[in-house]
Amino acid sequence: MTFYVKPPDGRVLLRVMEEGVNSRLKLLMLINSTIPFQTEGLIIDHLMENTMKDRISHFILRLTCLFSLDFKAFFIRAETKFFEERLSSYDWTDVYKMIQTLHRHLQEQNSLKCDSGTHTHSAIISQTCSELLQRKHLKHAFDKSHAENCREYVVIVDFQYCSSLVRRREVDLKSGKCYVHCGVWGKLLICFFRDLLSLGMEDLARSSMPQIVSRDIRLKSIVSQTLETFYRQSNLPSQSMRVTNAIKSITVDKESQFFPPCALNILKNLRHDHRLGHHARIQFSLFLKGIGLDVEEAIKFWREEYSKTPNCNEHRSNLCQHAWKKDNSRYIYNIKHLYGLKGSCKDYQSKSCLSLQSTGGKTGEGCPFVRMHPKDIVKVLPQMIVNSNGKRNSNSEILIEHIVELTSKGKPSEACKACFNAHYAAHHQTVNFNDESVFEDIHPKRENAFFVRSEPHVSEYGNYCKNECHKYELEGTTFDDTKVGSSSITDEHLNDRAASIGHFTKGLAVTNDKLSLENVSPDLPHDIEFNCPTQYYFSLKSRLLSQTRSVNSD
Ligand code: SF4
Repeated sequence: MTFYVKPPDGRVLLRVMEEGVNSRLKLLMLINSTIPFQTEGLIIDHLMENTMKDRISHFILRLTCLFSLDFKAFFIRAETKFFEERLSSYDWTDVYKMIQTLHRHLQEQNSLKCDSGTHTHSAIISQTCSELLQRKHLKHAFDKSHAENCREYVVIVDFQYCSSLVRRREVDLKSGKCYVHCGVWGKLLICFFRDLLSLGMEDLARSSMPQIVSRDIRLKSIVSQTLETFYRQSNLPSQSMRVTNAIKSITVDKESQFFPPCALNILKNLRHDHRLGHHARIQFSLFLKGIGLDVEEAIKFWREEYSKTPNCNEHRSNLCQHAWKKDNSRYIYNIKHLYGLKGSCKDYQSKSCLSLQSTGGKTGEGCPFVRMHPKDIVKVLPQMIVNSNGKRNSNSEILIEHIVELTSKGKPSEACKACFNAHYAAHHQTVNFNDESVFEDIHPKRENAFFVRSEPHVSEYGNYCKNECHKYELEGTTFDDTKVGSSSITDEHLNDRAASIGHFTKGLAVTNDKLSLENVSPDLPHDIEFNCPTQYYFSLKSRLLSQTRSVNSD
């Protein structure tokens, strides 16, 4: 049952189904995250393998994948890890039973007349299972002391059924066949699990299930709640946010106020040199694609920059010297390729932090917290952190010191998290003191946002209107500051206004006095988790957006 080849049947209470889905989602999110694994709040009943509840929760989440590609990618990744966890706790008899069940279920599935590629695939996996089902071999291969490089027994599999093992050079290849030695049979089963899961989803997408779910109000509600929880907790932009976040080539610089240091650094180099190295260009193109720049706008963006004369000196001699005029077809092809419109038609995603931290060259690509010397890191931090509040102050010094320290300790993700928190806090400060346009694109009704949110005393007395800077709103009455002294404004109004400004100023003084990040902004998102630069961008922007929204709806 651990391979989930057969969907469950029978009756189940809606409440039980919901409990199971929530528990499984929570577990998968824990498995998928980098935070320590805790089982608190999980209803383990729903996760015990070979039980009906386990199958129900798995298949309902599988249905959810039909409605979101993000969720599908997450689900395949997390379920595969879950399978890996389970497999690591098995002894050889458990593995034997598991393969036996898989073999039986695949045979049942294959006996149903079907000519699809899925059928062929599962027939081949079923054939490999029958080869694996030798007690003596399994006892040897799944013994706890069995070495990964052991080559005593071997099964032969077509290379497409264990492509990840081929990629990692863990099998011998001969005439398109892989010779999988017993040392990696566990990994072979993981490949099978992932393949069968993906194929099962393809079958599901081809079936009538998407229409059934769309028509069934109960299933529809479970699916939408699941997706809502998933997007909220994973800090991923929801599909609707991606659509509304369509950015233009001319707004890239403005959006850069939410960029992580890796993307900021590349943008800075690009604006200075008008050219990038190959890897930096790919990294930045995928980042821009991930945050909502469509292919036409991407072509415009690169055309504009690459039409300029390159500004390269001898230290940057490895930079590309091509020009748009001469090489435009090549560049357009490359951009379309990244958007999945040319060549292999693969829909490339923004690179993960892990991958960027393990690569990096001289032309600005990769993660700066790994690639740069800690004392130079300040050069790539968002300007608003460095010059928080318009000038470098004691808060900025402390934040930067903290980030530099984490960088020099070789903790790039921690350093970037600290940078995110400082970036978030600085946004509030900037909105607070200087920059009225920060939220322009985020929320049209931004007036009063920071003032109400950041300093509760202000809202008690009145809100300062940022759009029309002479007007004050006092307990529902708007009056014009330019009319001070006129009979329409009473002393009481003026006293209240003075009190509100007094409280507000006091609040700022406290903020500037206490030299810790927590005191800069008490709502810092300490739970922040991001795995790629795109998530950094969306997490920052959406958190600021939700703050603004909640303030405006108060
Ligand atoms: Fe970019 Fe990730 Fe490095 Fe942060 S940790 S700078 S988001 S690659």
